[in-house]
Parts: sequence; C-alpha cells; structure tokens
Amino acid sequence: MTTQVGKLHTDLDDIDTVMLDMDGTLLDLAYDNYMWLDYIPKAYARENDLDEEQARRALYERFMKLQGKLSWYCLDHWSEALKLDIEGLHREQNQRIGYLPGAQSFLEELASSQKRVLLVTNSHETTLQIKTEVTDIVAYFDEIYTSHAIGAAKEDQPFWEQLHAKESFDPARTVFIDDNLSVLNSARQFGLDNLLHVTQPDSTRAAVNDENFNGIQGVSELVARD
Ligand SMILES: [Mg+2]
Repeated sequence: MTTQVGKLHTDLDDIDTVMLDMDGTLLDLAYDNYMWLDYIPKAYARENDLDEEQARRALYERFMKLQGKLSWYCLDHWSEALKLDIEGLHREQNQRIGYLPGAQSFLEELASSQKRVLLVTNSHETTLQIKTEVTDIVAYFDEIYTSHAIGAAKEDQPFWEQLHAKESFDPARTVFIDDNLSVLNSARQFGLDNLLHVTQPDSTRAAVNDENFNGIQGVSELVARD
C-alpha cells in the first residue's frame, strides 16, 4: 500500500530540492510579453515621435542584441538606454501580473512538503519586487537566488557554479523547472539531469514542445489528481 503525503506527483518522490524559475514557469509570461512587445514599444513611440511599427522594430533589434545577457533582464539598463521610466510602466500594468494556471496550488503543496524550494530567476530585483507586491510569490521559497545578485545570467556557467557553492545541492536529488531552453541547456551542461521544460509559459499562446527536454504544459501537472 502506498501512502501519499500531500498531493505532489510521485515523479517528485526522490527529489529533495526543487529549483523553480519564475516568469513563464510560475507567473504568466503574458504580462512580460505584453510589456516588452506592446506597452513599452508604444511608450517609446510616443516619446520619440515614431509610429508603433517603427518603434517595435527598433526595440526588437536592440532586445535581440542582448538576449540572454544579464543586462537584457535589467530594468535599470533599459530605463537608461530607452530614456523611459520602465519601472513606472510596469507598475501601470501590474493588474496583468498573475500565476499560471495551478501554479499557486503547486507552490502550496511544495511549501507543505519536506523539500527545499528555491526560486532561481533572471528577474531583476525591481521586477521581482513588483511581482511580489501583486502575488506574494517570495513567501513560498526557502531561498531566493537572482542572477543579478549572483552576477551572471542562468544562461552562463558561472551562475550555476556560484549557486552550487551557496546551496551544495545534490544534482541527482534536484529538479530544475524552467521555460527557457537556453537556460535548461546551461543547467544540463553544469550537470543537472532532472530538468523539466514548461511548454506553455504564456497562457495566451499555444504550447511549444522541444524534443531535447521532458516537457510539462505547466507545473500544475506535478500535483496529483485526487
Ligand atoms: Mg522563465
């Protein structure tokens, strides 16, 4: 007879450390996509007398150059580079911030388990603060690691080396869940094998699977059904 403690999926039975990305894994990436692909380009167009399409193209080009780099995730960098109040713009739309379906229940189950639960995010401190004001997400974690505090993005090996120096997790008993394939590849390169790819980070877009990683549509799949 099996006795299930809590409602976590049995895939997590042999896991004692759960590392979770935030945006697109726990919180709906629809907010970030809206901010960076729509709301901020519109503000940039207004400030610079461009039409929206021109502004979108100009910003997209600049975003691509820095994608995956620490400064890409840095609100201060973009405030300075675009001469816009990026923090203020984020706050204006904070009603759009929210959990992905089932993510909060998953966090509640994890919190009542014996597992160590870590937030491992590229999110800038300011964005984390704004999202916490709306969702109180930081309350669910034993520890929070941001790439800005560590000084390297998750896409880069020094992030994992330093995280491991601070946490000394056992890779065999650790699962890492993220929606970003470059980040998952970086974690794999470091030696993490238990990786899960979130295939639907934005609830308004279709899921996209990747053949190189085990996919879950969302973390709600890790909560067992009654
Ligand atoms: Mg993410």
